[in-house]
Amino acid sequence: MSDEAKEGEEFTLEADSELRFEIEDKDAKVFVTLISGFAEMFGTELVKKKKYEFLTGAKVAIFTYHGCVLNVNGKTDVSYISKETPMVQYLNCHAALEQMRASAEEKDERGPIAMIVGPLDVGKSTLCRIFLNYAVRLGRRPLYADIDVGQGSISIPGTIATILIERPASIEEGFSQTAPLVYHFGHKGPGSNNVLYKATVSKMAEVTLESMNVNKRTKHSGMIINTCGWVKGDGYAHLLHTAQAFEVNAIFVLDQERLYNELLRDMPSFVRVVLLPKSGGVVERSRDLRSEQRDLRIKEYFYGHRTPFYPFSFEVKFQDLKLYKIGAPPLPDSCMPIGMKAEDNKTKVVAVTPSPSLLHHILAISFAESTDEDVIGTNVAGFVCVTDVDMDRQTITVLSPQPRPLPNTVMLLSELQFMDIV
Ligand code: ATP
Repeated sequence: MSDEAKEGEEFTLEADSELRFEIEDKDAKVFVTLISGFAEMFGTELVKKKKYEFLTGAKVAIFTYHGCVLNVNGKTDVSYISKETPMVQYLNCHAALEQMRASAEEKDERGPIAMIVGPLDVGKSTLCRIFLNYAVRLGRRPLYADIDVGQGSISIPGTIATILIERPASIEEGFSQTAPLVYHFGHKGPGSNNVLYKATVSKMAEVTLESMNVNKRTKHSGMIINTCGWVKGDGYAHLLHTAQAFEVNAIFVLDQERLYNELLRDMPSFVRVVLLPKSGGVVERSRDLRSEQRDLRIKEYFYGHRTPFYPFSFEVKFQDLKLYKIGAPPLPDSCMPIGMKAEDNKTKVVAVTPSPSLLHHILAISFAESTDEDVIGTNVAGFVCVTDVDMDRQTITVLSPQPRPLPNTVMLLSELQFMDIV
């Protein structure tokens, strides 16, 4: 053990308890080492004697099924051991999913398509991570779809995305982000364009379900879907639509009996709906913190997290831009061309004339080469951020993870903005 680890504070955890801590101080670092026993963080096992580094903003729970001793070195805010955790219930749900996978394997059918729902800050993303980690530790290869456009954990905000999980999440950096399938939505919440959100989710469902037929291991492993915390009104309608589009057969409802009962009422009988308690450790996030976290995710996209990335900055001429946005201003039905509904406007691909208002906006780089293609139904290759608009020289400057030139494809304007101040 290193001297540094010896210096910290030791915590002895009994079976079925967890150590929770947060790091709030700017530039603070906390090192955690498993001294003896077995422990895991959100489903990923800690390696004994290895020193894990946690940075500002971390909200951590290290759980043990068998008991362990941990060394914590560094300044944490609120650190305590809790014996009240729902982990055993979560483990039982994982066991039920695993049974569905085993049976799917026998019959060569599709494995469980499980959706995690619940209001804001109940630990939906964390439960997804736990289920995925447990699955992959048993040799499964599930898909993870995150359709939370505000606080999604795969791509940047304003998108929905899916990745194939091939190994447990890294304790420090989460799941590896290799080759995600990403669709542009362009807003922080589904309510900004319900029609487009529905269309995007439908497309993601179609493509991911199709892809499961290609790889047998993934087909049997199934999929875990993380959803938005908007569970009332149109938000609830989105949950129903998502369940239908993805042909969901298991729903885990965190912490809301009302939502659980509504889903029991509205779901067909083959869908198992399970109510689960939230963990007392889940930290509530204020509006400001959510907005900060969105900024941070975009910053990490361009600049990296622990491994730094070095983005490029270059000019693009207005004339070389194929810039569009999705959704035209609403018109009453009476003003629409014959055969079109006002709803159709919401998914209309509209050309955008470059202007100073583009400043700081994220642009998604589509794989679609022209608007003759299905732009909404085409995934995106990546993103750039507009850092300057020069009306005299008719150019924009963009921050880009790739060197120039940009591909000659359609770019889609996002409502999300990022101030490039490093
Ligand atoms: P949202 O509604 O924004 O999508 P959510 O329901 O997905 O949120 P999470 O992101 O899973 O919630 O959890 C919120 C925060 O609480 C995360 O930072 C997570 O690390 C932390 N957290 C989750 N479980 C625990 C726990 N048992 N102890 C301490 N912190 C936890």
